[in-house]
Amino acid sequence: MDGKALAERVRKDVAEEVASLGRPVGLATVLVGDDPASGVYVRSKQKACREVGIEPFDHNLSSETGQDDLLALVEQLNGDEAVTGILVQLPLPEQIDEDRIIRSIKPIKDVDGFHPFNAGHLLQGSPTFVAATPAGIMEILREYKVDLKGARAVVIGRSNIVGKPMALLLLAEHATVTICHTRTRDLPAVVREADVVVAAVGHPQTVTADMVREGATVVDVGINRTDDGLVGDVAQDVREKAGLLTPVPGGVGPMTIASLLRNTVRAARYQSGELAFPLD
Ligand code: NAP
Repeated sequence: MDGKALAERVRKDVAEEVASLGRPVGLATVLVGDDPASGVYVRSKQKACREVGIEPFDHNLSSETGQDDLLALVEQLNGDEAVTGILVQLPLPEQIDEDRIIRSIKPIKDVDGFHPFNAGHLLQGSPTFVAATPAGIMEILREYKVDLKGARAVVIGRSNIVGKPMALLLLAEHATVTICHTRTRDLPAVVREADVVVAAVGHPQTVTADMVREGATVVDVGINRTDDGLVGDVAQDVREKAGLLTPVPGGVGPMTIASLLRNTVRAARYQSGELAFPLD
């Protein structure tokens, strides 16, 4: 499943949408520290913004930044009319309480969808901002006409940013969903039952061919930097078993960025009142 090609089409749609809004749209990105991977992600999000006519506002803070200073910056961005969306790149250094920072972002600007307000709306079946990675995966599954109704879906990983929202989105499409994690007993047996597998683990080779049903749809969310370069969570030999598979790179990654752009335009529509945001 070619996430890169789909993401190009989405970005084109978003560019047209931004142009038709007739007013500026801006995304503030906040990067704390000098983690190289986080730096790469933030720069690619900023580049994607520029390409679709969204203005990126770059905030780069030292790794020594304290929680109060970061809270003050978020507060300033919350009140800045030029800032449509706010993205605080995770992970944050250990002196900062990540949940506290996420809760400080104004829900109507929370384009990552991590604020409990927006996560709660997804849980209750009335989504506002949906986390970009699972939202992008759903778009890939729709594009490839994967039948989710009644399908057995297994999500490996239960993080707030990927696994849990992914499971909720699959459930909303009437899949029968199982969430696996480090305490799951006999992971291979559980995965073998799945029509759709989403691996969001962060370890190479977590899903191997012997664990996958013939013809199953497999989504590889993992991004692991190894001596052999960038690899996902799914082993190469799964290609022979799966009916559909997302490559790494070129699968979920590009669609994550495309979904972030979509969310930012959605934020503009909420803020103009064109779409009703449930807090107002
Ligand atoms: P995370 O917060 O570290 O969560 C990993 C999850 O995997 C946890 O729930 C953990 O279980 C589970 N897990 C770890 N080892 C396992 C094992 N051997 N068997 C079963 N479950 C296991 O990671 P995340 O933020 O969700 O990200 C997951 C992966 O996706 C990472 O590689 C990340 O880089 C990648 N990612 C990619 C994109 C993209 O755009 N492509 C976006 C976001 C993340 P416990 O809860 O029990 O610890």
